Amino acid sequence: MLQTAQSMIKGVGKQLGFTDEEIAELLKANAEHQFEIELSTGAKYPAYRVQHNNALGPYKGGIRFHPEVNLDEVRALATLMSFKTAAVGLPLGGGKGGITVNPKTLSAAELEELSRKYAAHLSPHIGPDKDVPAPDVNTNATIMDWMVDEYEKETGDTSHASFTGKSLDNKGSLGREAATGRGGVIALREVLRHLGKNSVTVAVQGFGNVGSFFGTIAEYGHADWKLVAATDSSGGPFCLEGLSATEVDRYKKDTGPLKDFQADGATSITNDVFVGLDVDVLVLAAMGDVITEQNMHEVKASVVLELANAPVNEQAYKYLTDKGVIVVPDILANSGGVIVSYLEWLQNRADEQWPEEKVNAELERYMVAAIDHAYHYATKEQVSLKEAAFALALKRIREGR
Ligand code: NAD
Repeated sequence: MLQTAQSMIKGVGKQLGFTDEEIAELLKANAEHQFEIELSTGAKYPAYRVQHNNALGPYKGGIRFHPEVNLDEVRALATLMSFKTAAVGLPLGGGKGGITVNPKTLSAAELEELSRKYAAHLSPHIGPDKDVPAPDVNTNATIMDWMVDEYEKETGDTSHASFTGKSLDNKGSLGREAATGRGGVIALREVLRHLGKNSVTVAVQGFGNVGSFFGTIAEYGHADWKLVAATDSSGGPFCLEGLSATEVDRYKKDTGPLKDFQADGATSITNDVFVGLDVDVLVLAAMGDVITEQNMHEVKASVVLELANAPVNEQAYKYLTDKGVIVVPDILANSGGVIVSYLEWLQNRADEQWPEEKVNAELERYMVAAIDHAYHYATKEQVSLKEAAFALALKRIREGR
């Protein structure tokens, strides 16, 4: 993932005439905090916060708790965040954090102790004007509430603007939970509008937080988008007559793995065949490296929406783009989460709570502007949407605005 992000920055930087020194500067993180957290049980966990670039504003990016978290992954994700916030025109930089831990092995008290110690250790380096973390894989509003409380105990700040993705009772924002999926719907709608397409068949991989909000919001707003496949890690239903995202979502939440979901005319598919489905749009909302040199030849879709981070690797991206497939890049497609995080930060700083309609309207405004700018740049310069998004981001970071 780090290689994919860095090679895009190098390639686009060269096209824009950046010097080798300027490119090297953009690849390097401003600061890397690497430490160990010891719990009262004696167990120790490696922890990280990478602060990549703050030319446009405070560092912004999630904290993930996962057994495979390592410094290179955190660096890659921090780098992507700098370009994501810049590509969508937010006055924020990029950062990312993580702890190498399987949170499922911890008791609730241990999880709280780990979260609080992480925030306490980083408190001199983060804060509303320096670095504003958020939830990511296996972290949530409860964990953000513990962290903001710990940060405020350490620093005396009372604004709650030091973390986003908090619970609603603790100055979180309405609309935050659905924001990434909702942003994905806006991104796809705008791209289809530019392509002059209306009725499309859509397959969603990863019916979790992002994928299920994408599916259910699309179902209500876009009757001409037909959901024909929806999978989780077990697989899931495929049905040419169309599936109800609401029913799939309810089944996943109330009953169990999607491979067992049944509907009239539906068959059960595995994720091995997902990428090669004969559909118009593939929505990748599960994880990274889903389309690679191993399976890129199987893709039949004409649009691929990257809702996970880096689900299409570098080689596959080049291959698909050369074939004329539109890959809507992660830094645009999944930016709804960071946009509403920014809106939460604004609300906290002004001590306000906006109605959900206002949050969604602002999300819409940022997403539409970002996609339109990238589209116009791509058309004018004859480059892909991803190169266009990176080029606009690189320029903004260099100019500091
Ligand atoms: P989640 O854990 O809620 O959902 C992930 C879904 O993917 C689950 O349904 C899981 O069963 C499924 N999955 C896992 N492995 C799979 C596989 N091999 N094949 C098919 N499905 C598989 O996570 P989420 O919050 O929805 O995030 C999904 C992705 O989007 C992640 O890559 C995350 O980093 C990225 N993302 C999330 C946000 C956000 O706001 N939540 C923002 C930006 C990017």
